[in-house]
Amino acid sequence: MKRAIGILGGTFDPIHLGHLQPALEAMQTLQLASLRLMPNHIPPHRPQPVATSNQRLAMVKLAAEDLTSVTVDDRELRRLTPSYTIDTLIELRSELPDTPLCFLMGMDSLLGLPNWHRWQELTEYAHLVVAVRPGWQPELSCELAEFVATHQIDSPLAVHQQLGGHLIWLHNQPRALSATELRTRLAQGDSLDGLVPQKVADYIRQQGIYRPAVL
Ligand code: ATP
Repeated sequence: MKRAIGILGGTFDPIHLGHLQPALEAMQTLQLASLRLMPNHIPPHRPQPVATSNQRLAMVKLAAEDLTSVTVDDRELRRLTPSYTIDTLIELRSELPDTPLCFLMGMDSLLGLPNWHRWQELTEYAHLVVAVRPGWQPELSCELAEFVATHQIDSPLAVHQQLGGHLIWLHNQPRALSATELRTRLAQGDSLDGLVPQKVADYIRQQGIYRPAVL
């Protein structure tokens, strides 16, 4: 079996250090071979991101550029219809039949998991790695608590021994940061120093994304 890889999906409007820091810490703690950043396609009937798909992709690419073993997977963004995570994981599993997959998410995503399509099957294709996120207390519903109890394990390196099936808690340095907060900061003319990679901050400025006029 190959070494496990990580996948982090998100709207990334914009990508920020609250995404990157836990993902990089997960890479270290779990000794992942690589990490794929996967921007989501947003269906037309949902609230649209402020940045266009191309801008979100460009920002994710700039963020990945200087990071070792971090790549961008634009499969969901390039599709005309939104993908369910389960379908993306099934596709990745068939492309990488002997690579354990670690799907990374923040606590807020875990709490919303029961709304995801075929959520109980996600662990048939990947491990779930959950980063603690300030402001999000783990008050799990009964079905989610049962799911967590069935899958959680304490040993992060066990992810390399099977293709999926485990849930790992990531307790490294949580960071209270959200894209919503960053968009608000930008609308107020505040700086993004230390909150997004410098190249992403430069791109946002050059493109004039998130200026008050467009919010
Ligand atoms: P928004 O504020 O626009 O809702 P967001 O900052 O929550 O955006 P998303 O693109 O929706 O970012 O998140 C992608 C993934 O990253 C999700 O699994 C989310 O839980 C996780 N994530 C985002 N911010 C953090 C953070 N500060 N700590 C841990 N996980 C995070």
